[in-house]
Amino acid sequence: MTQRFMRRRRGARQRIVVVAGLVLVAGLVVWLTGVASLRVFLGDLKTRKEAALAVQAGALESLLDKYRLMTPLLARRPDIARMIEAGDRVEGDRIAAVAAAMSSAREVWFLDAAGAPVAVSPPPDGFPAPAPPDITDAFRAAMAGQLGREVLPGRAGDADSYVFASGVRGDRGLIGAVAVRVSLEDIERAWALSLDALVAIDSAGRIVASNVHDWRGLTYRPTDDRRTASLLFGLEPGTFIRQFLLVRGPGDQGGRPLMALGADLPILGWRVYLLADTAEAETQTANAMLIAFLVCIIAGGFLWSVIERQDAMVRRLRSDRAAALWLERRVHSRTRELTRANALLADEVQERLQAEDDLRRTQADLVQAAKLATLGQMSAALSHEFNQPLAVISTHAENAGLLIARGQADKAHDNLNRITAMVQRMAEIARTLKGFTRRAGTDVQPVSLCQVVEEALLLVMPQAKRNGVPLKVVKPEQDVIVAGGRIRLEQVVVNLLTNALDAVAGQPDPMIEIRLTLADEVILEVLDNGPGIPEAVMDQIFDPFFTTKPVGEGLGLGLSIAYKIVHDFSGSLVASNRPEGGASFRMSLPLVEAASRAAE
Ligand code: ADP
Repeated sequence: MTQRFMRRRRGARQRIVVVAGLVLVAGLVVWLTGVASLRVFLGDLKTRKEAALAVQAGALESLLDKYRLMTPLLARRPDIARMIEAGDRVEGDRIAAVAAAMSSAREVWFLDAAGAPVAVSPPPDGFPAPAPPDITDAFRAAMAGQLGREVLPGRAGDADSYVFASGVRGDRGLIGAVAVRVSLEDIERAWALSLDALVAIDSAGRIVASNVHDWRGLTYRPTDDRRTASLLFGLEPGTFIRQFLLVRGPGDQGGRPLMALGADLPILGWRVYLLADTAEAETQTANAMLIAFLVCIIAGGFLWSVIERQDAMVRRLRSDRAAALWLERRVHSRTRELTRANALLADEVQERLQAEDDLRRTQADLVQAAKLATLGQMSAALSHEFNQPLAVISTHAENAGLLIARGQADKAHDNLNRITAMVQRMAEIARTLKGFTRRAGTDVQPVSLCQVVEEALLLVMPQAKRNGVPLKVVKPEQDVIVAGGRIRLEQVVVNLLTNALDAVAGQPDPMIEIRLTLADEVILEVLDNGPGIPEAVMDQIFDPFFTTKPVGEGLGLGLSIAYKIVHDFSGSLVASNRPEGGASFRMSLPLVEAASRAAE
């Protein structure tokens, strides 16, 4: 129980560690995906925007180049020199108007050597003539024989202008200058088509042109704003995004970092910046991170299911092993029990065999004892049967002697006749007893049942007489032949008669009847008027050693031996109580169709 609890706790802890590990790995994967994809998408953005920047910067350069070349060419024209020298304003205005119209310059000025305007291109209809621009630096450079250039900041939200100035050479050297003002609004208009913010910064860092009107005139220091990028991506400044200059646009565009790409315009000394919105890269990065996250979840789920399955497998294996162990232990214990039971059974078998042996020995002893007892009874009966006639013979012999001595020989004759009769009787008894001297074989032969009964009666007669019990015999006219052994059948009948004599002993009017009847089979009944067999012992009387007689008088073997003998000769022996009182023993044997009487 405790072990299982500990195991479960250990499993829960392992699971927490696995989940934490998965979360950590997922976080790392998502972060790395973010970093890598941001680099890729920003690189892609940079490539695309660099091309756009080149186009836009080229547009600015080509616009200003036109005026850069046009101004010296105009200054070299002789009619312009003449016009300045002559101070011909009308002619000057005309030339200026034509030049301005042809070049799309905002204004074209002709200045004298002092810098005062001689002529100017006309303003659009309805506008007052523009005031001469303050182009001191440019004019000075022009009067020094160089190409003068100057940025004129726009007024009241107007775009800046750029002025080119070139000296006009007369006969006596430089006599004035041509100034061409170009509004940078043109380029701003061209840039307006671009989706990205574009700024042109002069060498001082001032925004001279931009497609974002609000930024005009601001001073821009891109390096100040690198922090913005760092904050947005949670990275320290100077990491991989160093290759991308990410800035916050001047005037703030909602804090969104912009990728600044710069291109130098060496002739003008300017730098053009394209500020690309990184929102797209951010979105793409976020998508990539989301996909990575989902992949992590799927992979985590898969991993989790694999771990779960492995866990379940381990659990199943463990429970299988436990079940196998339990089974094995059970088999062991059962085997032990069986072995024990087996040993007990073997002991018991041994005991039984021993008991059987003892029984057989005891049985043999008892049979021997029964034989001896029968022998004893027979000896007693015989001695009685023989002693009586011997005493009579002795008396008669003595009397005969006396009578002969007295000379009464005729009287002695009677005594001698009686002696002869006695001897004859004794001889008869001896003849009948001869049957017992034969060995009781197992061979079956035709036997006269009438003779068996007669011999049995002869044997029990002395006891019957002694007890005063009449023996009634009822038998058919003809002889009855059965298959069996004579001696053994006599043993059965003697036994039945002896038991009947025992039963009627002490009865007021004792009687025993032997009834021999002939039907499909031969039936011999021995009936008495004794107390009968108690119902309680009816089932046991044929059991060996069952007796109700006192010790020393009965062995309880008689009926069991009789039963066995009758069954050996295919017959049956049944006991019952007579309705009028007394017991009845009924022996039935198959009838043999024998013509002659059985040989003795
Ligand atoms: P034993 O005569 O030595 O007792 P038996 O086997 O011959 O042994 O008889 C068994 C028992 O059957 C007797 O003890 C007796 O109780 C009973 N029995 C046999 N014959 C009779 C009978 N004719 N009347 C009553 N009981 C009898």
